[in-house]
Amino acid sequence: MSRITVDTARLPVLLNELRLPTFGRLWSGFAETADTESWPAARFLATLAEHELAERQQRRIARHAQAAHLPPGKTFDSFDFAAVPMVSKARFLALAEGDSWLEAGRNILLFGPPGTGKSHLAAALGYALVDNGFRVLFARTTDLVQRLQAARQDLALASAIEKLDKYHLLILDDLSYVQKSQSETSVLFELIAARYEQRSLLITANQPFGAWDSIFPDKAMTVAAIDRLVHHAVIMEMNVESYRRRTAIERTRTTTT
Ligand code: ADP
Ligand code: MG
Repeated sequence: MSRITVDTARLPVLLNELRLPTFGRLWSGFAETADTESWPAARFLATLAEHELAERQQRRIARHAQAAHLPPGKTFDSFDFAAVPMVSKARFLALAEGDSWLEAGRNILLFGPPGTGKSHLAAALGYALVDNGFRVLFARTTDLVQRLQAARQDLALASAIEKLDKYHLLILDDLSYVQKSQSETSVLFELIAARYEQRSLLITANQPFGAWDSIFPDKAMTVAAIDRLVHHAVIMEMNVESYRRRTAIERTRTTTT
């Protein structure tokens, strides 16, 4: 200990080596305050440590927000809950807290015709969960199925599915656009089976379960997939008129009258 020479001029280098960028940026300002206000050394150190930790968390959330591939602007703030009376805002704000349902690997299924806000609502929940420290991935189901199919061809399906484990919530948007073809859709089934009771899925679909025979290769697999998805699921039917169409009609009305 005594053989260490203290050279404050080396502080920027030391803090950089230690990967403490916030210390590096803030220490001199706080040092001045500490000197003029006679802070105890512990307070000075704790203040910097708190700032470093807070910024580290912010940086992590920013990284996760980037990696989530959420569609821009589709947040709760821009979502009009009044347009979908069967969907409770309070319910969604509770779901945005994450914890219990994500820990239990429960699912959310959003059904409804095109344009009713399923993708928007799914993304809004995704943004809120990322803000609350969870990891989310938003994917068009057809894209993800293609990626998994490529992984299967490289004999790497298991590890590709395992890599998705890091996401507390995987949003599979537009599941019903997936078209059956044995190799394609059994990867979807394997994904669903792997996450069952472990990691949550949020699925949006235009078609109710009755039409899912066109997604999975055979009836038995359709039944098995639905069974796993609904076992611990919140299911919401958004049977309203298309928001897109409705706002288009309102626009015409206001421009013609
Ligand atoms: P879906 O996924 O059900 O086909 P989208 O979520 O893509 O529908 O919604 C279609 C468009 O209408 C998007 O631009 C979306 O932001 C908007 N939209 C839909 N529902 C609402 C709503 N309740 N409040 C605000 N915007 C909405
Ligand atoms: Mg959609």
